[in-house]
Amino acid sequence: MKIAVLPGDGIGPEITGQAVRVLEALASDGLRIELERAPVGGAGYDSAGDPLPEATLKLAEQADAILFGSVGGPQYDTLPRAQRPEQGLLRLRKHFDLFANLRPAVVYPELAHASTLKPEVVAGLDLLILRELTSDIYFGQPRGVRTNEAGEREGFDTMRYTESEIRRIAHAAFQAARKRSKRVCSVDKANVLETTQFWRDVVTEVHQEYPEIELSHMYVDNAAMQLIRNPRQFDVMVTGNMFGDILSDEASMLTGSIGMLPSASLNARNFGLYEPIHGSAPDIAGKDLANPLATILSAAMLLRFSLDQEAAAQRIEAAVRKVLAQGLRTADIAEPGKRTVGTREMGDAVIAAL
Ligand code: NAD
Repeated sequence: MKIAVLPGDGIGPEITGQAVRVLEALASDGLRIELERAPVGGAGYDSAGDPLPEATLKLAEQADAILFGSVGGPQYDTLPRAQRPEQGLLRLRKHFDLFANLRPAVVYPELAHASTLKPEVVAGLDLLILRELTSDIYFGQPRGVRTNEAGEREGFDTMRYTESEIRRIAHAAFQAARKRSKRVCSVDKANVLETTQFWRDVVTEVHQEYPEIELSHMYVDNAAMQLIRNPRQFDVMVTGNMFGDILSDEASMLTGSIGMLPSASLNARNFGLYEPIHGSAPDIAGKDLANPLATILSAAMLLRFSLDQEAAAQRIEAAVRKVLAQGLRTADIAEPGKRTVGTREMGDAVIAAL
């Protein structure tokens, strides 16, 4: 099984470096994986004049999954749009039709203090949000600003979902739930929006193929409230592009620690791009300060969802829980005044805990 490693910019090379060491430790223990690196984002622009160089795309096409670091940096902010680092990521999403964005929000008991919510509300939270990533009002046509018949300017967008687009994200949600507590909550605004009533109908139809999974529906306004009131009631939450954009950011902040959260973007054949939810953190790049755990946990998701190596994924997740229980903290998750470790030392500890 081949993994394309695209470290990117800023802290990208440091954090993917540690995730690669963890994967190599599993490989030396019998996991049959091959890793190959290629530049992307600003690094792609620097080496080949393109944020997604041809050789990088070719490597990704030959791989079973992509482990992605992060892209971007102030030195690239004035480039023309097509050459900006984020185009590397956007083009990969489009090229591989990565329509399902999976974002777990896990609160490890030891880190419950990092949340702005009370520890007793968030401790033990283990939620997975599936956001549809390629359709909805973000891509619907027509859109624009026009002058209407009354001579007034107006802005407009089109919310649109096809049946096949809803079906495939619903399947992804039910299949993810199979590997968890077998509960799916679909979030919509069916009381107001036709598109999302249709969403609800199609999700309900697809559910018939998954009788072992419990399905519930919730309006998005209530879901936003319930995420703060009692987030532990959720297992898998599935929703459209716009609602998912907002709810997944809300959920990530329940944990209070951006350096801990992995993500996956998958297509219909479970090929995926795995990356931490944070950016390239230029303020701490090259200083051995970045928390590598979000990227190491992204590697665990990669093993679970694209390579079907559940046991290896669980080994990584257990190792991360163990280092946290041992009290190891990078600066972003440390309590004030407590000892912290650097990026590499955290990687060493995870490998030792494997
Ligand atoms: P950011 O996520 O890079 O950083 C926000 C804050 O969180 C910073 O203070 C940073 O030091 C801290 N932080 C982030 N990751 C951390 C980690 N692993 N360990 C410890 N601290 C961490 O967001 P930003 O500052 O808004 O953006 C910086 C650059 O990243 C920009 O160029 C932006 O375009 C890019 N970006 C890239 C992606 C991506 O590659 N998917 C996502 C978001 C932002």
